[in-house]
Amino acid sequence: MNTNMLINGTQVAGTAENFEVLNPANETVLATVASASVEQVNDAIQAAAHAFKTWQFVSDADLQNAFAHIVKDIRQEKDDIARLITLEQGKPFGLAQFEVDAGANWIEYVASLEIPVETIQDPSGKTIQVFNRPLGVVASITPWNWPFMIVIWHLFPALKAKNCIVNKPSEYTPLSTIKLVEIINRHLPKGVCSVVLGKGAVGQALSEHPEVAKVTFTGSTRTGQSILSHSVESLKGVVLELGGNDIGIVLGDVDVDAVAPRIFGSAFLNMGQTCAALKRLYVHESVYDQLTQKLAEIADAQVVGDGLDTTTTFGPIQNRMQYNKVKSLIDDAVAQGGEIITQQGEFTASGYYVRPTLVTHVQAGVALVDEEQFGPVLPIVKFSHIDEAITAANSTCFGLGGSVWSKDIEQAQQIASQLETGTVWINSHADVSPAAPFGGWKLSGLGYSFGLSGLLLFTKKQAIHVTAE
Ligand code: NAD
Repeated sequence: MNTNMLINGTQVAGTAENFEVLNPANETVLATVASASVEQVNDAIQAAAHAFKTWQFVSDADLQNAFAHIVKDIRQEKDDIARLITLEQGKPFGLAQFEVDAGANWIEYVASLEIPVETIQDPSGKTIQVFNRPLGVVASITPWNWPFMIVIWHLFPALKAKNCIVNKPSEYTPLSTIKLVEIINRHLPKGVCSVVLGKGAVGQALSEHPEVAKVTFTGSTRTGQSILSHSVESLKGVVLELGGNDIGIVLGDVDVDAVAPRIFGSAFLNMGQTCAALKRLYVHESVYDQLTQKLAEIADAQVVGDGLDTTTTFGPIQNRMQYNKVKSLIDDAVAQGGEIITQQGEFTASGYYVRPTLVTHVQAGVALVDEEQFGPVLPIVKFSHIDEAITAANSTCFGLGGSVWSKDIEQAQQIASQLETGTVWINSHADVSPAAPFGGWKLSGLGYSFGLSGLLLFTKKQAIHVTAE
């Protein structure tokens, strides 16, 4: 298993302290990895700054060609990559294969985007061209939930805009990122894309570096705030994709059998460890009993186990810290009158297993409803009037996403317009699109990812005023 960093096109071992990568299905050590020293982080940035001198002028045709080769290699090595994802992250192998496929498709979409040049005629008749130029060196810091997909979300828009980039993956899940950066380096000049490994201190050294023009970060709000505070001195830009506490509002007119599997899928996607997962469900009283019963049936039918076992439909939580957090939120909800309506399994394996858990008889004020659980437990709250649900939706510091479930699309759109979130889905949730801007309001983020708006955040404008002699 490769545990090297890739700096300036060369594989190197870290020279600072070691850390272990565990398999969340059984807590065995998958790999011992050496962290980057501050000098090695600096080396990666210097290599990126050097590579940028020529990479910024790469032709669109060469860029397209390189992306196409990268996609081809990813597809050819899909099962090896998916196996690495399951081993380090825990998700079932089929979901890991989906992550690899979706990542390859995402790169193709980014490759197809065109960076526009705007031509303006000023009132005097002068022509002004506005170009979107690359920024220089971008730093990328990624989390442990979708370790292959999210790093693709970071790297490819930055590269497409002709920047150079240095990534630091989560210390919990670095292995599939190492593999991706190795593939990328087969097809791009050295120094254009590097990866450094380590914990938060390595991320901090990377994001604070004065030669980094922009930091793109996906992770917790707390870390995002720290990165933002450190960006002040060198006035670097930041894109922050942070935590959320997405509401799903179910109106009384839904076909329960039709929506229940989709609601379950979007709340428990990746064992609930998805930024844009549905994290609190508000259900109209007229369909509450029927929907909770149906959701419980779906939850109880899941086969929880090691993601590499072909019978498994539901894997472990990724790490012990998150496992403890989810367990304590469930215990606290029960202590405050919450009722668990799903089966609770006893697990003999030493992994971080929690069955998909539904908790009723809870309301705002209980931590499970108010905080981001980021795991396999969903609070379900009954409401009588839509105003109660809208007030609950907006009574949070988060503003990532929300959803409305109804046959009446016009009414759903009207409710959507009242939700204080960057994305609202109607009759779905968490199905992000490479074409649509995605970003959180309030403490859920700063800036956008995806689509042309996300791509353009890796550029800066240059206006060229042309006056005839
Ligand atoms: P985290 O903030 O603990 O860690 C994320 C990354 O930041 C890791 O690589 C970590 O090593 C690094 N890091 C830690 N301290 C740092 C520092 N001081 N400076 C620089 N880097 C530092 O987050 P996590 O636990 O890995 O991820 C879970 C969180 O991510 C959840 O809150 C989830 O909602 C959020 N998330 C958001 C999105 C989104 O698009 N909005 C997507 C996925 C996950």
